[in-house]
Amino acid sequence: MSTPPSVLFVDHTAALGGAELYLLDYVRHREGPHQVLLFEEGPFADRLASADVPTRCLSGASAVLSFSRASGLMAALQAIPGGMRLIYQVAQAARACDVVFANSQKAFLIAAVAGTLTRTPVVWNLHDLLTADHFSSFNTRLVVAMANAFATAVVVNSEATRQSFVDAGGRQSLTRVVYNGLDAQVFEEARPANVREAQGIGDAPLVGIFSRLAPWKGQHVLLEALDTLPAVHALLVGEALFGDEVTYAQRLRDEVGQRGLSDRVHFLGFRNDIPALVNAVDVVVHTSVAPEPFGRVIAEGLLAQKPVIATRAGGAQEIIREGKTGWLVPPGDADALARAIRHVLSDPEEARRRARAGRREARERFSLGTMACALEATIHDAARTGG
Ligand code: UDP
Repeated sequence: MSTPPSVLFVDHTAALGGAELYLLDYVRHREGPHQVLLFEEGPFADRLASADVPTRCLSGASAVLSFSRASGLMAALQAIPGGMRLIYQVAQAARACDVVFANSQKAFLIAAVAGTLTRTPVVWNLHDLLTADHFSSFNTRLVVAMANAFATAVVVNSEATRQSFVDAGGRQSLTRVVYNGLDAQVFEEARPANVREAQGIGDAPLVGIFSRLAPWKGQHVLLEALDTLPAVHALLVGEALFGDEVTYAQRLRDEVGQRGLSDRVHFLGFRNDIPALVNAVDVVVHTSVAPEPFGRVIAEGLLAQKPVIATRAGGAQEIIREGKTGWLVPPGDADALARAIRHVLSDPEEARRRARAGRREARERFSLGTMACALEATIHDAARTGG
């Protein structure tokens, strides 16, 4: 390939969600000129800086940042002045670049205008399902119209995400499916974290959920399932990351007390040593009650060669082949989840067989190299096509 185009990566948040960890994995290995622009300071900015990725955090974006996924027209109007300032700042930075790569919806809305003003092609990486489970219809109509009018390409993280974009009126010809790439070696080689001793778990069967605490991530379904699994302990790894999730996190902690699960449910908060923690559990559980756009944690469980139980919806169904590389259960069904956990624990040979097959497939399908090549090709195409 010729010299890599210079890229301005834009993300609205500096919290460490799956989309941000994905971008971190890509840019830290990317050769060629680039800069990351965030609309706030925070842990994502710190991680980029430690990886020596040129990063700049803008300020004064609070009205834009507080515009939530469910917001409507009024909130959009209030966000306009802050949005104009951001457009100006992103446009200034875009002038020196060949391509703008927007890694979130808010970033895309700003980048689409900035890119048009500066005639810089804009690639949007869509990490979300554009469905009523996740977004207001105003929000979806706005972002899809902007994509159809201004995006040079829309990278989607699964076929399910692509379908939601097309169903919402997005042009299919813009889309490229690129699965998250993960560092397989890190998951294969991490030594198990010392949680059993630290948490007083001993040799008890241990399941783990590695997701931010949010209603749609469905940690409450596991708590319900634990009622019928008296010997099983659970690690809940992750914390509330965004606004309304804090109430849910408290509700979960209260529910653990009410169900008498305090000795068996271990809240570890947000952790940076996920590979070591995944390697410490017997089963990885994913409980999202709304369809998952992709679900990095499912692929991470497979890479660590763990039996993985996920919910049968959205991108999870593209990661796990039912009966071959893991288990799929209906979203929100605590009985089915309990049955699947019991099955995994009572048939270790079958669990090992699926886990081995899962790792083999995951190494091929979710490699960092495959992801980087696909993204780089999309960026090159965008640079060639022009803004
Ligand atoms: N994660 C983490 N620390 C935690 C909990 C989760 O680093 O305490 C990571 C997890 O390993 C995964 C990502 O956060 O890589 C979550 O991505 P996913 O696609 O599963 O969900 P999202 O948060 O993007 O909806």
